[in-house]
Amino acid sequence: MGSVQIVTTILAAGITAVAVWLAVRAVMKMTAVIRLGQPAPERFADKGARTRKMLVETAGHTRMLKWGVVGAAHWFVMVGFIVLSLLVLEAYFEVVTPTGGLPVIGHWTVFGLATEIITVLGLVGILVLMAIRLRNRPSRPGGRSRFTGSTMWQGYFVEWIVLLVLVFGLVIRGFKVATDHFEYPVWATPVSHAVGAILPDWSDGASVAALIKIVISMTWLIVISLNVTMGVAWHRFLAFPNIFFKRDPEKPAGSGLGPLRPMTSQGKPLDFEEADPEKDQFGVAQVEQFTWKGLLDFSTCTECGRCQSQCPAWNTGKPLSPKLLVLSLRDHAYAKAPYLLAGGGKDLTGEEKATQAQLAHLDVLSLAEGDKPLIGTAEEGGVIDPDVLWSCTTCGACVEQCPVDIEHVDHIVDMRRYQVLIESSFPSEAGVMLRNLENKGNPWGAPQNTREDWTKGLDFEVPRVGEVDDFEYLFWVGCAGAFEDRAKKTTRAVATLLNEAGVSFAILGEGETCSGDPARRIGNEFVFQMLAQQNVETLNEAFEGREKTKRKIVATCPHCFNTLGNEYGQLGGEFEVVHHTQLLAHLVSTGKLTPVQPVDGGVTYHDPCYLGRHNRVFAAPREVLGDSIQGELTEMPRNSERSFCCGAGGARMWMEEKIGKRINVDRVEEAMATGAKTVAVGCPFCSTMLNDGVNGKGAGEQVEVIDVASVLLRSVKPEQPRGDKESTSVAG
Ligand code: SF4
Ligand code: SF4
Repeated sequence: MGSVQIVTTILAAGITAVAVWLAVRAVMKMTAVIRLGQPAPERFADKGARTRKMLVETAGHTRMLKWGVVGAAHWFVMVGFIVLSLLVLEAYFEVVTPTGGLPVIGHWTVFGLATEIITVLGLVGILVLMAIRLRNRPSRPGGRSRFTGSTMWQGYFVEWIVLLVLVFGLVIRGFKVATDHFEYPVWATPVSHAVGAILPDWSDGASVAALIKIVISMTWLIVISLNVTMGVAWHRFLAFPNIFFKRDPEKPAGSGLGPLRPMTSQGKPLDFEEADPEKDQFGVAQVEQFTWKGLLDFSTCTECGRCQSQCPAWNTGKPLSPKLLVLSLRDHAYAKAPYLLAGGGKDLTGEEKATQAQLAHLDVLSLAEGDKPLIGTAEEGGVIDPDVLWSCTTCGACVEQCPVDIEHVDHIVDMRRYQVLIESSFPSEAGVMLRNLENKGNPWGAPQNTREDWTKGLDFEVPRVGEVDDFEYLFWVGCAGAFEDRAKKTTRAVATLLNEAGVSFAILGEGETCSGDPARRIGNEFVFQMLAQQNVETLNEAFEGREKTKRKIVATCPHCFNTLGNEYGQLGGEFEVVHHTQLLAHLVSTGKLTPVQPVDGGVTYHDPCYLGRHNRVFAAPREVLGDSIQGELTEMPRNSERSFCCGAGGARMWMEEKIGKRINVDRVEEAMATGAKTVAVGCPFCSTMLNDGVNGKGAGEQVEVIDVASVLLRSVKPEQPRGDKESTSVAG
């Protein structure tokens, strides 16, 4: 070993020892923070499926590749990071001797070839990612982008480190080539040979370059260890467990879509008959009341901003960005952790758990963080502003986009649950809706005995469950479908089409109450359970003696469709629920309904969030429209998975939209820009929001917003009267 190698070896060992010590300390700290969360025992079920999903999602980059170029570039960088870690290891042999290499594989041509290819592709990948970050940097003129609010220096730092590590890998090889100590043939390592051709014949070059490579790598490790909230770096490790422990490993899209998690306390679903707010946790009031998976979610965020780029609230000037929400929760959790780990925290009655002595050694910042309300305005020192919390439509665009499977909607609703159930703090205008649900069983407060008014004037009888011996489908009408004038037209259209196709169906009539969706999404789990239990009982009675596959329900409202099909199982109600567009598509494809006169004038389709993104029903409504209209369906730029919310979900239908641009207006502008005369929808709430938007723009005469079923009915029965201009009133 020469004198240069003695120095390089000592320096490499020294910086590595410091970096490893700091990294171990950082991992212990992160583990301690994540363990502060509440139990989530269900996350350990199905380990086989979880492992499979984690491997598919990481190795295949299935979620990243939704953004093709970024996904491909990131894949090369990820593979580069994993495989080229071996070259960092090899550098430790090279600081000791410039001709050194990994034992066994270090002299194998296949290894030389594979690492050469991955180095080159990794270089291309990282340069692409750097260019994308620079092109979208928030500091550029006119700069709002998905990176707005991300910690930009961390992104640049990580990218430069990757670039330099790759470059110095080639420099080490180049010096070996230049000194004639490189064993791999030119055909397997042409780039290394090209680098070697321009480097001097310096015998210590490889050792010095290896030291630089180690210093760069260890600097990265030191910096991320000193910054445990640096998700852009830590996600390289945390993404694996975060994907493994996702809510539902079998879900094709974001696992936090579709049903909401039941409300839990100590890892067990809460039963309101026995629950006690002084002993049981009602939603989330403190950051440590999220489950450990929630805290892992926050730690894993890469700050990529894909969620932010799709969020309807953010895109219309509201203060909510799902990324910034996650980052606020993450930063708060880590800043509060010393206080919590010292035994601090509030019990369920709001009393401090720690003694003075336990908290005596803490710095004032940790203590101050412990006092911050989770939900509160800037003046109150809150972590999340109420306007942020209540801006969410629960559209799921963030969950769908997140490459590391963060479950934003669950976290938002958990925080709403505490605000509604314990603090009674929510936008006051929504109180009317909640009172109506409790007292009248529907959000509008319409009299229950008008639930069947929509059947009046139909030229056939609509049977009720109990009046007919048998029926194939229970037609779940929904509150909008029963009480809201425009939605009643859809209900009548669906009933007419089912009757025309000879489908045997029956309704519950006055036996039906609200599915509970708006109560659940605003956070009132108590009212949700009350309504849902009543409906589950009614439905179980209606289907008595039938196996699950014969307990078929058709719903016109995607919110009911989602709640009945995905959430009633949590309360003992197992049903096969289809959306009316699915059933209609089936009836058309099997020849039971025949469109005869194509609807003309151009048609576009707006995907309802709870039908499309939350439940992945994208094809059926398009098939129905494809069969009913003249020419091709005109898609809006934001469609299918990336559809833009109408603004009504998450109980936003019953809240005023006071901040920023109205979401429905934004969507209507996009629809109108297609030039289509008809905007087809598959949800009564989308219908209301888009109609309001069209009318607000004074375009009510030129553009019509109607349900897919009504488009089909016009095509199947063109002689059918089209009715008056639709109004928005509610019966009763
Ligand atoms: S669910 Fe929709 S509105 Fe809510 S944060 Fe996510 S993207 Fe934004
Ligand atoms: S998409 Fe996921 S990882 Fe990216 S910023 Fe949003 S929450 Fe973080």
